[in-house]
Amino acid sequence: MGYARYKITRGGETIQAGYDVETVCEENGCTEQIDRGLAYLCGQDPGGDEHGCGGYFCGSHLYGAPEGEHGGRCARCLPETADDLRTTPPG
Ligand SMILES: [Zn+2]
Ligand SMILES: [Zn+2]
Repeated sequence: MGYARYKITRGGETIQAGYDVETVCEENGCTEQIDRGLAYLCGQDPGGDEHGCGGYFCGSHLYGAPEGEHGGRCARCLPETADDLRTTPPG
């Protein structure tokens, strides 16, 4: 569920987001084609929140959220204590 396209503010910048917006994984050096849907979002809310940076990452670079939280996390936003999540392949 969700909107195909919407505007969000991220780091003081307004960008297009939504699953209809094509982009590449924001991990350095990764060229995986993804979209800006919630499935690729780091954090729980577009634009970033206290859980994540609001970046968009491919399946190889987005990890599961810690127990009790929702959404995905990039490697930088995973809690230090979540090493088990880091080594578990997503999906
Ligand atoms: Zn992040
Ligand atoms: Zn990637």
